[in-house]
Amino acid sequence: MVEIVGVHKMFGDLHVLKGVDLEVPRGSVCVVLGPSGSGKSTLLRCINELEDLTAGRIYVDGDLIGYREVEKNGTKRLHRLHPKVIAEQRSRIGMVFQRFNLFPHMTALQNVMEAPVQVRGLSRAKAKERAEELLARVGLADRMDHYPAQLSGGQQQRVAIARALAMDPELMLFDEPTSALDPELVGEVLAVMRDLAESGMTMIVVTHEIGFAREVGDHVVFMDDGAIVEQGDPREVLTNPREERTREFLAHVL
Ligand code: ADP
Ligand code: MG
Repeated sequence: MVEIVGVHKMFGDLHVLKGVDLEVPRGSVCVVLGPSGSGKSTLLRCINELEDLTAGRIYVDGDLIGYREVEKNGTKRLHRLHPKVIAEQRSRIGMVFQRFNLFPHMTALQNVMEAPVQVRGLSRAKAKERAEELLARVGLADRMDHYPAQLSGGQQQRVAIARALAMDPELMLFDEPTSALDPELVGEVLAVMRDLAESGMTMIVVTHEIGFAREVGDHVVFMDDGAIVEQGDPREVLTNPREERTREFLAHVL
């Protein structure tokens, strides 16, 4: 479903991604671990076209993300896609951030309805029906008319997940979705993510929740200093890491 090939990203002189290769099969959950500053968020942002690549390619469901390949006189070149096409590609990828980023002046229901109505042109009635369904699915059937300020952090994050799902994404990216939550609220968000994984969604999840990685992850990736240092089966990598840097990191978060 996702194929990342030789991806480099530089911010000026700062080399943040140093040749990342990764494959995420359809319907699987890939958990990305690694210390702060190792490039995890940048990698997700590249997949979602919030950053352009310095080198390399990313394919989602077979489509080259952000570019089209043009052959001229036997040489292949990449042309940046039109912003409209990029927006269309991006709308098929759901992203959930550490901060919930809900619209504060809209209720939970209105937050979830917004993009399908504005971007997809869905009728308000259809969007409402679907939003109600999604909010029920994340356990918020009784909170639909609440504003973000009237919801706990865990509830807000579940609205954010419902909002991403409202666009019927084929891929969901999570960037430390529980890091800003009080500890007692982490479980309810992880439960929704686990449910989503069990429904067959393809997911890439940046998190420090090792229990989630072990129980829900099909594949775990450990990043350090802009590169993938180690990857494999979570039970394998988390219990028996081969690399010293992975071992050190796990000793800190476990
Ligand atoms: P992580 O998510 O693993 O903590 P990030 O991907 O956020 O790491 O950051 C990796 C490195 O890239 C850090 O050194 C960070 O300061 C730098 N960085 C991230 N975004 C930008 C940006 N827009 N401009 C300059 N440097 C950036
Ligand atoms: Mg980050």
